[in-house]
Amino acid sequence: MKERKFLWWQEMPYTEVVRWAKEECDLAILPIGAIEQHGPHSPCGVDAYNAMGMAELIAKKTGAMLLPSPMYGSHPYHHWYMPGTIPLSYDTHIALLVDIVKGAAVSGYNKFIILSAHGQVSTTLVAVHKLGLEGHFTLSLHWYDFLRDNKDVLDDYMWHADEAETSVGLYLYPKYVDMSKAEKGGGEALVDRKWIIAPGMAPKPGTMYHFEGTFARPEYKELPNGVIGDPTKATYEKGEKLVTRTVNHISDLITDIMTRWPVGVKPPIK
Ligand SMILES: [Zn+2]
Repeated sequence: MKERKFLWWQEMPYTEVVRWAKEECDLAILPIGAIEQHGPHSPCGVDAYNAMGMAELIAKKTGAMLLPSPMYGSHPYHHWYMPGTIPLSYDTHIALLVDIVKGAAVSGYNKFIILSAHGQVSTTLVAVHKLGLEGHFTLSLHWYDFLRDNKDVLDDYMWHADEAETSVGLYLYPKYVDMSKAEKGGGEALVDRKWIIAPGMAPKPGTMYHFEGTFARPEYKELPNGVIGDPTKATYEKGEKLVTRTVNHISDLITDIMTRWPVGVKPPIK
């Protein structure tokens, strides 16, 4: 892969955006996160920064175009009304994702990956299927799905503002993380956790994904410090391993897609 001067759509003139799709790579990544409290030790932009940081590393390896991140995301019902968190409503977020992909397709991009670093499956899946009806090839990836029981790196699965997310922050943007303020969190599910697949956990027969039910009490009532899990266990080294693994997995996926459907070829959706 040859060296690129710029990675992001917003940094280039439209002529280069079009040339890139035509001659280099017609797969574009839309990194999405959220503006959300992440405990007293991490910034409210954790999820957006995680998505953008990983997307940059993936783009360097694969040649994918990077679409500007809207930063705001949609949130499961129990995140709402928590200070520091600014949720988009579900209809707003679905419309935003659909419009961005449709707009980018005009410049010649034929494959899209919505790379999410926040639990917003409730809207990304709907957007993918709406776009499918209109003939657009889109994948929605949640980065923690690539972790799947990484117990050789983490003591716990990924939760929220915890060991996993804070480690990624220490690796990608340490200047915004203050470990002296990191403290263990709380949070109980409304059904036994043995029925629920945590983010970053490998599914077992008969278990439900964490987004498949109203399993949690409202965060603003339930969580004293906004944290679920234990961020005091976060380190730069763990972050480096998690990010590298995820970036390599997604880069392999992109290479595979671009081999099956080379530049200029649109997967036959319609
Ligand atoms: Zn997060």
